[in-house]
Amino acid sequence: MCCSHVVLVDSSSCLICLSLPLPKLCPCFRVCACAVSGSDTFWIAAAHSAASTVRYPHEGRFYKLELVFLNLNHSSSYVVTELMQSDLHKIIVSPQPLSSDHAKVFLYQILRGLKYLHSAGILHRDIKPGNLLVNSNCVLKICDFGLARVEETDESRHMTQEVVTQYYRAPEILMGSRHYSNSIDIWSVGCIFAELLGRRILFQAQSPIQQLDLITDLLGTPSMEAMRTACEGARAHILRSAHKQPSLPVLYTLSSQATHEAVHLLCRMLVFDPSKRISAKDALAHPYLDEGRLRYHTCMCKCCYTTSSGRVYTSNFEPVTNPKFDDGFEKNLSSVRQVKEIIHQFILEQQKGSRVPLCINPQSAAFKSFISSTVAQPSEMPPSPLVWE
Ligand SMILES: [Zn+2]
Repeated sequence: MCCSHVVLVDSSSCLICLSLPLPKLCPCFRVCACAVSGSDTFWIAAAHSAASTVRYPHEGRFYKLELVFLNLNHSSSYVVTELMQSDLHKIIVSPQPLSSDHAKVFLYQILRGLKYLHSAGILHRDIKPGNLLVNSNCVLKICDFGLARVEETDESRHMTQEVVTQYYRAPEILMGSRHYSNSIDIWSVGCIFAELLGRRILFQAQSPIQQLDLITDLLGTPSMEAMRTACEGARAHILRSAHKQPSLPVLYTLSSQATHEAVHLLCRMLVFDPSKRISAKDALAHPYLDEGRLRYHTCMCKCCYTTSSGRVYTSNFEPVTNPKFDDGFEKNLSSVRQVKEIIHQFILEQQKGSRVPLCINPQSAAFKSFISSTVAQPSEMPPSPLVWE
C-alpha cells in the first residue's frame, strides 16, 4: 500500500515525495523510535517479533511491516506499515454505535491473533484498546510489540512487573508475582471485552492498590491458592481487607449485549488465578465467537476466497505457528550499533525483488511534522509496580 503512494524522484540521492501523510504511520514507528535511542534489550525482541511476522505465513494478524528503511546517514531507522485508520480505544470512546456483531468480530480477531502469538511463545504484555488497530472494514491487528518478550518457562526466573497499562493489568502482576505466563494477555482481553460491551473501562483505578481492590470487588476475595505466586505484602493487603463476595452478575448490567453467552466467556477470562484462566485457543472454541468467526471468514479474511460457485473456506480458521519464535539472536548482541546493523540487514533482505525502494526526504514539511509529533512519551509507558514489601 505504501509503495503505491510514493514517487521515486532520484534513487541515487534517496529523495522521494510522499503523498501519504507520515504522521498517520506513527504507531509502529514509536516502537522503533524508542528502540534506536534506548539501550533496553526489550526493543530488540520487539523489533524482531514484528519483523518476524513478515517471515511467518501469518496473513495479517499483526501490524505488518510494509517497509523498513534507514535514513541517509543510518543514524535512525524508520518503519512504514500498512495504514490502519483507527484503533479500538478511539472506536470505544466515539459516539458511533457498536453492535454485538462488532463486539464479536473484534473479540474474535483479538483472540485469533493472540492464539498465534502465544503459540509462537510470545507474550505481548501490553494488550489494550489503543494497541489494537482497526481499519474501516473492521479488520483488527495487534500492534506495538514494545513490551513483548518470549515466555519464560523457568518459574524460578524473575520477570519484570513493569508491563501492561494499569487498567488492563492482571491481578498476579498487581500482586507482585515474579513469574507470569501468557494468561496476563488474556486478562487484558477480558477487560477489553467488558469495555466493548459497556463502552467504559471496566477497572478504572487511580492506583495499583485501587486497581486490585476493584478487581476483588468484582471477583470476591481470592483463595490462598489463587494468590500463591503473590508477594507477601500483597497477600497481607488482601487478608487485612474485609472478606468480599463475588459480584459477577453485575456484568449483565454492562449493556443489553451482555447476554448469558457473553458473560460466560467474559467470566472465563476474568479469572483471578492465572492457571485457571481460559487460553486463547479455548476461548476461540466458545460458542459466543461462532458468529464472529463466520463473519470474519465470510468477508474480511485473506485465508478464504470466493469463487463463482461460492465461498471456499480455509481448513484452519485459527492457525498456530511452529516452531516457536527463537530469540537466541539476542545473545550475540551487545550494542545498539549491532542491532541497527542486523535491522539494516533485514531491511535489505526485504527490499530484494520487485519492491520500489522507499527513502525519505528529511527536508519535507511532512517529515518535519512527523518527527516532531509522537514518539513514545513517558506517560504512555506502564507505571512502575507497587512496592509491596
Ligand atoms: Zn478465512
